[in-house]
Amino acid sequence: MSEENFLAEMIEKYPYVFARAADNIRPFPMFGIECGSGWYPILNQLFACINSHLDWINKGKDDVEKVTFVIAQIKEKFGTLRFYYDGGDEQIHGMARMAEAMSEVTCEVCGNPGQLRGRGWLYTACDQHTRPEDLYNDHDDIGN
Ligand SMILES: [Zn+2]
Repeated sequence: MSEENFLAEMIEKYPYVFARAADNIRPFPMFGIECGSGWYPILNQLFACINSHLDWINKGKDDVEKVTFVIAQIKEKFGTLRFYYDGGDEQIHGMARMAEAMSEVTCEVCGNPGQLRGRGWLYTACDQHTRPEDLYNDHDDIGN
């Protein structure tokens, strides 16, 4: 699925997550989702959790009492997912950390189980999407 189609679907499904996505100059509105589509299912689950949490926690509250939430940036860094936002609360913090942890065991290309690979330039990939030179080293030549 293309990033454009994925984002359009997410915005339609999770209105509380994206309610204020475009009202500031931030990397997210400018650059969108800066990671491979293998992590889209993780993001979908994260958005679903945040959306229902915001719906529940803000129900019946005045605007000044509501938990605010704005996505600042979604990207890959050092081989794993980084999800930055402004506002939120402890529950959303935990959800975001869980999603980032899931990216450490999920191929960024295809979404199959994977692991952190490479040296210097790190990435998370399944065996199929690992560069041949990274497949069998597992750092076992270090110290020999
Ligand atoms: Zn893969």
